[in-house]
Amino acid sequence: MSDAGCLYIVPTPIGNLSDISARALTTLAEVDLIAAEDTRHSARLLQHYQISTRTISLHSHNEAQRSTLLIERLLSGQSIALISDAGTPLISDPGYTLVNLCRSQNITVSALPGPCALTTALSASGLPTDTFTFFGFLPVKQQAKAAKLLSAANSCVTSIFYESPRRVTDTLRACQQELPSHTRYVLAKELSKSYETYVSGDIADLLAYLDADASHQKGEFVLMLHCPNQVEEGIPERAAALLNQLLPIMPPKKAAGVVAEHYDLNKKQLYEYSLQAKNDG
Ligand code: SAM
Repeated sequence: MSDAGCLYIVPTPIGNLSDISARALTTLAEVDLIAAEDTRHSARLLQHYQISTRTISLHSHNEAQRSTLLIERLLSGQSIALISDAGTPLISDPGYTLVNLCRSQNITVSALPGPCALTTALSASGLPTDTFTFFGFLPVKQQAKAAKLLSAANSCVTSIFYESPRRVTDTLRACQQELPSHTRYVLAKELSKSYETYVSGDIADLLAYLDADASHQKGEFVLMLHCPNQVEEGIPERAAALLNQLLPIMPPKKAAGVVAEHYDLNKKQLYEYSLQAKNDG
C-alpha cells in the first residue's frame, strides 16, 4: 500500500459564505497544506471559519512548477486540499495539471461535492437537464464566438456558458445575430448572492433586461440556451415539403425566402432548417 498523502478537491462558496459543507471545513482544517488559486482571496473564507492551515498559491501562471512541488509533498505523505477562488476547482479554474499528475503517480484524489455555478444555474433554469453541454467561457474573437454559439445551438441540447460582465452584452448581441429566433435563453446572475436574478425568454427579453439599468450588466453570469430542433418546433409539414422541393434547384437563402413569403413564416427559421436539411444530405 502507498504511504502517499491524499489530494482533496474542495469546493468553496460561489456567493454566500454559508454555502460550504461541514466536511469541506473539517478537511480544510485537517490537511497539512491548502493549495489556493489566490491565497489572499481565500484568507477571508479561512479566517471566517477560523481555519489556520498553511496556504500556498496554485494558479494558471504557476500550475506546472507548483504541481511538481505538491506531488513531492503528497509522495512524502502530506495531505493537501485544493481550492479555487469560488466554486469547484478545475471547472474553468486551475487544478487539471495537478490532478492529472496525481492520477499518473497513483496518488489518491478525493473530490468533495459542493458549490458550482454551472450545476446551480442549470438546476433552476427550467431548460432541459437530461443532456447538456458546458462550454466554459466563450472565445473573445467575434468569429470564433459566433462559430461556438452556432455549434451549441445546432446541437439541440441545453448549452451553458460562463460569462463576464464586460462581455455579456456583446455575447447576447452575437446570439441575436447568429442564432435562430426560436432559441430560448436563461441568464443566471449573482447566484446565491443578494441580487440573485434569473432572466428567461427570447433574446429580446434578455437584451431588454441588460439595457434597462446599468447595474443589470454588473456581476457574475451563467448564460444557458436551448434551441429545439426546428421540425419539432413546428415548421408546418407543407412548408417543409415545399422547401425540400426547392432546395435542389435554388440556394438555401432564396428557397427560405420563397417559402417564408408563401406561408407567411419566419425566414430565418426556414433558412436554418434549409442548412440543416442540406447538412443531413
Ligand atoms: N469554478 C467555478 C465554479 O465551480 O462555478 C467557476 C470559476 S470561473 C473562473 C468564474 C465564472 O463562473 C464567472 O465568470 C461566472 O460566469 C461563473 N460564476 C461564478 N460564481 C457565480 C455566481 N455566484 N453567479 C453566477 N455566475 C457565477
